[in-house]
Amino acid sequence: MMDHDFRMLIDGELTPGVSQFDVVNPATGKAFAQCPKADEALLERAVAAAKRAQPGWAATPVETRAALVNQLADALEARIGEFASLLTSEQGKPLDQAGYEIMGSVFTLRAFAAMRVEPKVLKDEGGNRVVEHRTPLGVVASITPWNFPVILLMNKLGPALVTGNCMVAKPAPTTPLTTLLFGEMAQAILPPGVLNIVCDQNELGALITGHPDIAKVAFTGSTATGKKVMASSAGTVKRVTLELGGNDAAIVLDDVDARQVAQKVYQGAMTNAGQICIAIKRAYVPAPMYDEFCDELAKLAKAAIVDDGSKQGTTIGPIQNQMQFDKVKALIDDARTRGTVLAGGDALDRPGYFMPPTIVRDLDDDAPLVREEQFGPVLPVLKYDDIDDVIARANGSDYGLGGTVWGKDLARATDVAMRIDSGTVWVNQHMAIDANIPFRGVKQSGLGAELGEAGLLEYTQAHIVNAIALEDA
Ligand code: NAD
Repeated sequence: MMDHDFRMLIDGELTPGVSQFDVVNPATGKAFAQCPKADEALLERAVAAAKRAQPGWAATPVETRAALVNQLADALEARIGEFASLLTSEQGKPLDQAGYEIMGSVFTLRAFAAMRVEPKVLKDEGGNRVVEHRTPLGVVASITPWNFPVILLMNKLGPALVTGNCMVAKPAPTTPLTTLLFGEMAQAILPPGVLNIVCDQNELGALITGHPDIAKVAFTGSTATGKKVMASSAGTVKRVTLELGGNDAAIVLDDVDARQVAQKVYQGAMTNAGQICIAIKRAYVPAPMYDEFCDELAKLAKAAIVDDGSKQGTTIGPIQNQMQFDKVKALIDDARTRGTVLAGGDALDRPGYFMPPTIVRDLDDDAPLVREEQFGPVLPVLKYDDIDDVIARANGSDYGLGGTVWGKDLARATDVAMRIDSGTVWVNQHMAIDANIPFRGVKQSGLGAELGEAGLLEYTQAHIVNAIALEDA
């Protein structure tokens, strides 16, 4: 058991909970640390602290705020090994991937620290000057999931702080520790109340989304919870950004080398054990190369090193929690009765939540594994004959987050990408997420943007000042 005394950050103080709960290492299935738990009173203290701090923070020059965000980035970078190792312990991902998440978090903070929102002159004629200013919203709540607990917080914290908001952040109950460690570090850098962190076991969400002193909820998580966030935010007409689930299709065109693209599709589906909102969750392959493509994916899956993420060489770690593990297992068991499991399919006979990478072929589009978001290391591979038909099949989903098209003829592949109803479509690459490029879902994959200038503006409101000189009396 880790002996670190994790505490929440409330009003600049490292604060114990009213009780504690276990945090489980998914590679062992055993508790390895304790997380402090907030009750409603502690949440109220956190919101009140953020509300108190916010006017002073907004009045602090943007250059000073940005410098402090850069200091957070520097401090995180200096402790990258420690953060990565804690991330692997609580989340499960292999250590090298944990390192990428921390480094990506550093880049994200720096990217936002470099962004500015300038007032816009909308009209300046005949003595009438109309200027659109962008002012902060006030207190912003961040609610994050368990797949990328650190970077998904930074996507929200960076823009919130640079634009003059204060924050109450709530991590997911199964991955709270890296957020708490970040809070410890931030205590020495940020003024009290600017960032507050509270932990729960899914009890605080509704209190946060209904809170009258919270102006905005920046939420990343499942579509089901996102709908609750939106409904509950309506009571106070909160701003919401929702980064929700996806069921991204990879469309492989008929002019590619099956082996080359199978490798890329495999990575896109299996990184972080498939627990990525924008993971490839279904692959559509032309009939003439279907067998070869499936076999290549199966070969890659069988070669994976599925183990504790803290062990050197591990390529796939465990699924993050028991509930998700059970869900993925049920989807695979169902798929087995409808199609052919070419690789994987059986959980490892050891403690922890290990499912080897699983490739399933010959499923119909209405199989649950194809229709639902599996969020785990299992990929259904589907056959197609006609490009218009496969585009319709790819778009036949309530989700519209990402997606990929793979083709040698770049113009043709780009044309296909234009016809996919998603927030982002990558061509011949995957997961090219960049803090300077906005990311958003269409349909039930989300609302509003994260990252980029659009993501920055989501933390502001337009304030128009329309002035004219009084005529001489
Ligand atoms: P989840 O929806 O179960 O939980 C997300 C967060 O919401 C947690 O912090 C949880 O405690 C909190 N929560 C629970 N009930 C709440 C309520 N009533 N009100 C407010 N908050 C509440 O999601 P998860 O299982 O942790 O994460 C996986 C999901 O997240 C997947 O669907 C995945 O696709 C999605 N995701 C989306 C993106 C994106 O950018 N679009 C990124 C990562 C993950």
